[in-house]
Amino acid sequence: MTETAVRRPLVDTHCHLVLLDERGLLHAALESAAEAGVEQIVSVGLNLEDSDLNRLMAEAHDNVWFTVGWHPHERHAPDAAQLHALDELLAHPRAVAVGEIGIDLFFRPGYHDTPLDEQRRAMHAMLDLAAAHAKPVAVHDRNAHEEVLEVLRSHAHVGGVMHCFSGDAAFARRCVAAGYAVSFSGIITFPRSEPQQAAARSLGDNDYVVETDSPFLAPVPHRGRPNLPGYVAATAAAVAALRGVDPDTVREQSTATAQRVFGLPGTRR
Ligand SMILES: [Zn+2]
Ligand SMILES: [Zn+2]
Repeated sequence: MTETAVRRPLVDTHCHLVLLDERGLLHAALESAAEAGVEQIVSVGLNLEDSDLNRLMAEAHDNVWFTVGWHPHERHAPDAAQLHALDELLAHPRAVAVGEIGIDLFFRPGYHDTPLDEQRRAMHAMLDLAAAHAKPVAVHDRNAHEEVLEVLRSHAHVGGVMHCFSGDAAFARRCVAAGYAVSFSGIITFPRSEPQQAAARSLGDNDYVVETDSPFLAPVPHRGRPNLPGYVAATAAAVAALRGVDPDTVREQSTATAQRVFGLPGTRR
């Protein structure tokens, strides 16, 4: 493909523009997106304050939407006042989802040590919020496949995205059956990610999206640098190679699914 060939538009379904901004990378982030044909960006909140800063990002940039989240690393589940403020933020016209929320059982010193019960309480409260607003959720699952799926299944009317998917093909099918799209990140381009690569080969055309989780997890060939939203093109290309299709096919399928799940407006065809 030549530099000037028209490519299908892409959506980065999960990045952290506020964290990129803190690192002085906001301009580079938006520029990388424009260069790579990333026409829509979902910038994900981690707690009340961070979600509100992501609201400002969405208000400042036409191609940015935001989510209202409570990350499992937060030490406590949101209290009544915080839930009320999160609820108000979700009424914003550019708030497209609740998240990220979830369970993280990867306990390491300096990473996080929020007890499982507290993580579960937060996740349940945020799923109730999603149900009340008829919004999807962006789910963080690290070393917690069964625990996460159990909580999600107890809120059967909510669906969304399994962000930064780290399971295998069988778990991917169970997530889809529970009403969740599987989101592939730069992990898919790393060595030793055969289970995720098998999931990428096996899922249906309408069951997956792509994301960066930037500034984290830059895909090959950008690995070792801060990740940027435009690098989602490398992840889409890797998924295409695994599925044995043209990159534009993956761009088209993942964009259609992202727009459906997050209720984003359609882009040019
Ligand atoms: Zn996450
Ligand atoms: Zn994230």
